[in-house]
Amino acid sequence: MEQILKEIELQDCPLCRGTGALEEEGGWCFYVSCLDCGAHTAEIPYKTKEERLTAARNASHLWNIGKVLRPDPGE
Ligand SMILES: [Zn+2]
Repeated sequence: MEQILKEIELQDCPLCRGTGALEEEGGWCFYVSCLDCGAHTAEIPYKTKEERLTAARNASHLWNIGKVLRPDPGE
């Protein structure tokens, strides 16, 4: 992952205080997920290079304000 994306700051998981990780899915969206409990943000899609960084920042922002989905039950 590029340096610019590594520099985006992520808070601890709002649910378990675990480590959040910025993830890119198949070259079309970003989301942040917790490495410990599996909580994650919504997927933020992008279409262009310009939108890509914005999507990464938006996903990180959702995470940092605690807008996360709980892990699916049973997982
Ligand atoms: Zn967590």
